[in-house]
Amino acid sequence: ASALELHDVSHAYEKLLAVDHVSLHVNEGEVICLLGPSGCGKSTMLRLAAGLEALQQGRVVMQGQTIADGAARLSVPPERRGVGLVFQDFALFPHLSVRRNVGFGLTELEPARRDRRIAEVLDQVDMADYATAFPHALSGGQQQRIALARALAPQPAVLLLDEPFSGLDARLREQIRDETLHVLKRSRTATLMVTHDPEEAMFMADRIYLMQSGRVVQSGSPDALYHRP
Ligand code: ADP
Ligand code: ADP
Repeated sequence: ASALELHDVSHAYEKLLAVDHVSLHVNEGEVICLLGPSGCGKSTMLRLAAGLEALQQGRVVMQGQTIADGAARLSVPPERRGVGLVFQDFALFPHLSVRRNVGFGLTELEPARRDRRIAEVLDQVDMADYATAFPHALSGGQQQRIALARALAPQPAVLLLDEPFSGLDARLREQIRDETLHVLKRSRTATLMVTHDPEEAMFMADRIYLMQSGRVVQSGSPDALYHRP
């Protein structure tokens, strides 16, 4: 089943057309990469899916429900879309413990259930021993794991990742990438990830949408894209 669909979406900043009639879909359990050079419109696509940018044209559908429609000026706010976000600049809250960071989106749960969910998701990212630690005491890789745990804690239908490994040094990046893929595959969430790194996309993605100047120029499985001339 398709968890996220973007239909014929376009977006302009002033006169610059950053996204030009793009359509894509992400199925439950899939990891989809938006791949392309800097400035091609990848982050704008994610922000449109998240609701962080008002949709000018096209439609966004989540689990069968239209949540944004440019023509109808409809836009469900980000916090009501059921999306998890891991953005480069979406850091952990420095004044909150790991446990509170991860519990941040769980305020609707009663305390006992919230604590159970926090423990569960910390266990998933292998950080069970760090519940009371504060972000500054964690390594970059550990902070990244907590950011993933925080995004997954409310069990979002859709997870949006924007260059999630770019802040990590090269050696750590590969390890965290492996771990992240493992966690994503177990969580069954639909993942849309932005990257400019072809190798990363090849490794992570079930399917890749290749973007250039605001348009999708190719799409398919890593194998299909790799073997195409
Ligand atoms: P990518 O994520 O592929 O690097 P972006 O979606 O960030 O691409 O940017 C696409 C284009 O839109 C770029 O030319 C960029 O300079 C421009 N752009 C992005 N955000 C803004 C903004 N807030 N205001 C004006 N132009 C922007
Ligand atoms: P810590 O010492 O780790 O900061 P506390 O012992 O103060 O945490 O809180 C214990 C539990 O209370 C947390 O595990 C969390 O589930 C819950 N809690 C309290 N306030 C919040 C909040 N604002 N957001 C999320 N969880 C909260």
